[in-house]
Amino acid sequence: MSLIQGNTGDWEVVIGLEVHAQVVSKAKLFSGASTQFGAEPNGQVSFVDAGFPGMLPVINRFCVEQAVRTGLGLKAQINLTSVFDRKNYFYPDLPCGYQISQYSQPIVGRGELLLDLPDGVIRRIGITRLHLEMDAGKSLHDQHPQKTYVDLNRSGVALMEIVSEPDLRSSEEAGAYMRKLRTILRYLGTCDGNMEEGSLRCDANISVRRPGAPFGTRCEIKNLNSIRFVQQAIDYEARRQIEVIEDGGTIDQETRLWDTGKGVTRTMRSKEEAHDYRYFPDPDLLPLDLDPAWVDQIKADLPELPDEKKDRFMHDYKLPAYDAGVLVQERPRADFFEAVAKGRDGKLSANWVMGDLFGALNKVGLDVEQSPVSATALGGLVDLIADNTISGRIAKEVFEEMFATGQPAADIVEAKGLKQVTDIGAIEAAIASVLDKNPDKVAEYHGGKEKLFGFFVGQVMKATQGKANPTMVNDLLKATLTGR
Ligand code: ADP
Ligand code: MG
Repeated sequence: MSLIQGNTGDWEVVIGLEVHAQVVSKAKLFSGASTQFGAEPNGQVSFVDAGFPGMLPVINRFCVEQAVRTGLGLKAQINLTSVFDRKNYFYPDLPCGYQISQYSQPIVGRGELLLDLPDGVIRRIGITRLHLEMDAGKSLHDQHPQKTYVDLNRSGVALMEIVSEPDLRSSEEAGAYMRKLRTILRYLGTCDGNMEEGSLRCDANISVRRPGAPFGTRCEIKNLNSIRFVQQAIDYEARRQIEVIEDGGTIDQETRLWDTGKGVTRTMRSKEEAHDYRYFPDPDLLPLDLDPAWVDQIKADLPELPDEKKDRFMHDYKLPAYDAGVLVQERPRADFFEAVAKGRDGKLSANWVMGDLFGALNKVGLDVEQSPVSATALGGLVDLIADNTISGRIAKEVFEEMFATGQPAADIVEAKGLKQVTDIGAIEAAIASVLDKNPDKVAEYHGGKEKLFGFFVGQVMKATQGKANPTMVNDLLKATLTGR
């Protein structure tokens, strides 16, 4: 358990996250206007999105399907009947004066998300619900010294609000939750998970308590748009609450903002209650009834998700949980690994993909899709190691050349004469010459200085330009030394 030390003893932080995930859809939730990112301000606004009187919303079937897919991906209850409500509040970028959302009857109910923690522990985090709602527009405060502008392009874009149970117990767990949720959304293709563009935003609810005590009063930190900010805001806010309580104060339930510049949370407003919004069913929209056969079909068409892929990698390719976990984090990486590992040694393939390849890609800032070494080419290198054509050490050199030039491994090995020496005679000759040159060391070795064995191996490898098969060098060297 990760506890925070205060002046008067230990504290536990309790966190529940509300994540807004923008649905990958060409059109908005209730209109046919485009959702393309980066368009001219107010260039993608229909009369519905602008809140013109008398305009009627029409539900986008594709968005509903993405919400169902996401719910199924979170192993959640799909509610065959759900209801759209109006959530009433004033904001300059909300032209209707209400947001169409779902309140008491959301489209998706309880589900779960599994966290793979660094210590290998798997924690189950409850999902409370997922509902569909429309996004608001955007107020632009930095375009004019006296005026604020409004851009309604975002108005009406479909969002899935995914609410977790207060099951998270540290900022690290909250970060792991965000990463896992993003992975699942990307596997499903229902949200691009791009936090910089605002397609994934997080409100963090935070409270502190003595270990085992009832939950404390929470504060909600709004609109965190990176995983780093989520974690920093939680760490800061937990400390703040502990200090307030330890100084004899109490926590007021409120909505706060994360100030990225100063690294502090600040009061935004006191917490609004659900009844403040005067929720009521939107009279322009019928309850949403789903055909169970349609839901079953969506379920049958789901792709393999990260948890299942991880289990399969561990089973089929005999990978340790850690390797499998890293590889499945992004689907293109998992696919690349699988293309290398099919019909080859799984662990050896994983080592090359995760170690040398990811390392090299990372250094030059490329994704696996842009890798100068294809999966087939890397597979070719793994084959040369497996059939003893080259040693693992030489393979590193070959890999660097492949990465730089895009040439196949076999060509590089051929051109540079890097083939491993497995000829017993040649290796024995190299051993003999090394031992002949170092009679004093041989004597010391026999006198009990066994560490010198490593020195002899090094000399033999040097004499063969690193090409001798290391296992054979070891075995033959041992035999020769015993005989001398
Ligand atoms: P609201 O709709 O007012 O934001 P909810 O009951 O839907 O309230 O809860 C919102 C989020 O707050 C959920 O993610 C939930 O897990 C979390 N939460 C509820 N109680 C606590 C608490 N005591 N400490 C931390 N998080 C909490
Ligand atoms: Mg809330």
